[in-house]
Amino acid sequence: MAKKLARKASKSNARRASSKTSGSRSPKSGSQKYVYLFGRKTDGNGSMKPLLGGKGANLAEMCRIGLPVPPGFTISTDVCTFYYANKRSYPPALRAQMEAGVASIEQQTGKRFGDLKNPLLVSVRSGARDSMPGMMDTILNLGLNNQTVEALATKTNNPRFAWDCYRRFVQMYGDVVLGVQKRPDEDHEPFETVIERLKHDRYHHDVEDTKLTVDDLKELVKRFKALVKERAGKQFPDSPWDQLMGAVGAVFGSWMNDRAIVYRRKYNIPTEWGTAVNVQAMVYGNTGDQSGSGVAFTRNPANGVKEFYGEFLINAQGEDVVAGVRTPEPVAELKKEMPKAYAELERIRQTLEKHFKDVQDFEFTIEDGVVYMLQTRNGKRTAMAALKFSMDMYKEKLIDWKTAVMRNPADQLDQLLAPVFDTAEVAKAKAIATGLPAGPGAASGQIYLNADRAVVAADRGEKVLLVRVETSPEDLRGMIAAEGILTARGGVSSHAALVARQMGKVCVCGAAAVEVDYQARTVTVDGKTYKEGDWMSIDGTAGKVFAGQVKTAPSEIVAGLIDGNETAKKTEKFKHFQQLMKWCSDASRMSVRTNADTPEQTENAVAFGAVGIGLTRTEHMFFEGDRIDAMREMILAETVEARKAALAKLLPYQREDFAGIFRALKGYPATIRFLDPPLHEFLPHTKEQQEELAKKMGVPAARIQQRVSQLHEFNPMLGFRGCRLGIGYPEISAMQARAVFEAAAEVQKEGIKVRPEIMIPLVGFKKELDLQIDVVHQAAKEVEKEQRVKLNYMVGTMIEVPRGALTADEIAQSAEFFSFGTNDLTQTGLGMSRDDSGSFLPQYQELEIVTKNPFATIDSSGVGQLVAIAVEKGRASRPNIKLGICGEHGGDPASIRFFEKVGLDYVSCSPYRVPVARLAAAQAALQVKGGD
Ligand code: PEP
Ligand code: MG
Repeated sequence: MAKKLARKASKSNARRASSKTSGSRSPKSGSQKYVYLFGRKTDGNGSMKPLLGGKGANLAEMCRIGLPVPPGFTISTDVCTFYYANKRSYPPALRAQMEAGVASIEQQTGKRFGDLKNPLLVSVRSGARDSMPGMMDTILNLGLNNQTVEALATKTNNPRFAWDCYRRFVQMYGDVVLGVQKRPDEDHEPFETVIERLKHDRYHHDVEDTKLTVDDLKELVKRFKALVKERAGKQFPDSPWDQLMGAVGAVFGSWMNDRAIVYRRKYNIPTEWGTAVNVQAMVYGNTGDQSGSGVAFTRNPANGVKEFYGEFLINAQGEDVVAGVRTPEPVAELKKEMPKAYAELERIRQTLEKHFKDVQDFEFTIEDGVVYMLQTRNGKRTAMAALKFSMDMYKEKLIDWKTAVMRNPADQLDQLLAPVFDTAEVAKAKAIATGLPAGPGAASGQIYLNADRAVVAADRGEKVLLVRVETSPEDLRGMIAAEGILTARGGVSSHAALVARQMGKVCVCGAAAVEVDYQARTVTVDGKTYKEGDWMSIDGTAGKVFAGQVKTAPSEIVAGLIDGNETAKKTEKFKHFQQLMKWCSDASRMSVRTNADTPEQTENAVAFGAVGIGLTRTEHMFFEGDRIDAMREMILAETVEARKAALAKLLPYQREDFAGIFRALKGYPATIRFLDPPLHEFLPHTKEQQEELAKKMGVPAARIQQRVSQLHEFNPMLGFRGCRLGIGYPEISAMQARAVFEAAAEVQKEGIKVRPEIMIPLVGFKKELDLQIDVVHQAAKEVEKEQRVKLNYMVGTMIEVPRGALTADEIAQSAEFFSFGTNDLTQTGLGMSRDDSGSFLPQYQELEIVTKNPFATIDSSGVGQLVAIAVEKGRASRPNIKLGICGEHGGDPASIRFFEKVGLDYVSCSPYRVPVARLAAAQAALQVKGGD
């Protein structure tokens, strides 16, 4: 993997080198600029995220708008690229630029790095283009050694503070840079074990960390260093510059750690982006009672309410807040405890929203009553919060309606449609614990206390609830696999809350009554013990935990739209959703249809805003009730007459199905696809089933067996299927056409407009389509005459084999529309079976042969070309040809963006995916129009 990155990295380096601008060169040395200052003089700005990472760019931006940011500098992502392309080494010009950076911090703070009177300490933090919370490494209090710690103690007149900083530094540096970490045979982190032992030696019982004396801390530093020597085999570095270079290397190195790789894969973050490193003057939240550290959001990121939301710890450094070791207090408490600092934070909160025009998630430190900003970024949010933020900020005139549309992540939207707990059921259920509502929604699952076991259980098909004291990045896999996450400790900015918010997982955190025993694999609440595998339910909107399985009910949006529930329609969530959907219609160029095979599915999709059917798979209609018998009779028939007799039995069923669908569509068009799958799919395969069928049909079982083996194919997906069936047995297509037209005539007579679009599958040759079109027209003519009606229909084809796409100009001479069957087009275009690719695709993704599953997100550079060619050729011979897509990609936001670019008229997807597709289509139109 590292090798691969290096190869890519050197390529991107070469690209960059050839397009270097004078702005990216350091004027003095003539070499490339790698270090960007922020503080009194600021080189970067908020738009430079690719180069400075999200953290670095926003630190620069905050300096520019006058917010109190401790000075520092950012080492650009170019250095990360260089680092991996050059066997983990640095560009020669880097050191001098860093020295200039440190000198600049020294000048602004009046402190000096390694000084024995007034030493400068710095923090070293990662910062990728997109934030990757908790995935990479951070080092605080760097610059301390046995001499500078004494200087800090004298300067601050606070030896306890100085030694507390030092023991934290040795611990963090030992872990992150020198790799002193928990071994598989250990239960606890080794540094924590040293702390426990010291407490035991000196106090004979547990005491809080804050109670440790200067002498205790000195002893801890000694023991920590001995641990480093023993485990890492080297002395702890004393020179501040050695410390700094080591820390920078560790941060770059953490770009390729396991958890960062897992995270990037989940969020499709390209490996070649790399991380930047931020070196910044330390400010101290741990100098006493007028100091502290906190994390806050300008609005509530779980439910979207406009309130100052966050938490802080008095007398603590930043990592204490997120580590979940001490439970922080809500930020509102600061109003009482430090009113001046609170007022300053309120001012900052307003400034941030006014400037960034989006909800910010920021970190601050208060040092002796003075507030400093350490980071700001757009806050991760649940779909519910995103919807409310966008609507409220529009009303507050902070953003316009188009921005409001863009602010709702399309692939999160279905969180809003996810079930909630049934009100009646939840009223009956007994809440056994409460915690913070960190990820809204309802989840029931069997509890597992460890990520690996959670993954295994989920793979077995169980619904899993991951229960932990607190989560850490190591738990990511388990969190992905779980329906919901419950933690006993930690606040709204804890790792669990952060990740849940981003993934849209249901989450309750900090439920203190939940006692987790990892060893016994049990959870005890209020004296009752639950084992792994027992059921629990959590309400992430209310922050409640229930024993057992609590039944769920549809979300307010589904209840309002599908069930017509009036109470649901009055909720803010419902109204906001409707407003968003209206804006989507205003912004979109493409329309959204649905893939539906029944009147009920059609009604649901229309309620969600679909404006027609893009695909009815008629074969699904043959599996219900007695129809399968008639279907099998048709397949087993030995003469045309016998086949026609069986088809005559199917006709009324089909007619009824189509009539129901036409009524549900209320005048919208319906693309109806003729029989597509290989016939063997309809026949019984086990001996018992075959004998049963033989009895039912009054034929010998041997005949059925013989027909089944006759129909057996080695490659059924490339065999006798699609239009090949209708060409082999035209009477099947004739029956289907007749059923469509008779239904159309019937519904038309009821005064409802009907617009059938008959679609012939798997066409690769114009002649195939022509033969089927003749059959369709013939049936239409007959029905028009019999029923004395005028039918308004079209005949078109699916484009789902490469030959069809490449000869689309010829096919369009006959086809009135194309619908891209991207499932088969991907299968045939890649030569990759859609049913069997599961055995190798995961590895392909891991090796980055494909970045995404091509059956979920269109392979735009390969299969996409086939689509683009067909669009161009189709329009060349029939300029007004209607173009749509009905493969699974029709509901995938990234693919929808591609279809917008190539200029399709509509996308079609499953009914519950329609809102996602509407939002994605609107966003794609806004982006493509905006030149994005
Ligand atoms: C397709 O191939 O994309 C398609 C929609 O048809 P089916 O999935 O039924 O083969
Ligand atoms: Mg297909």
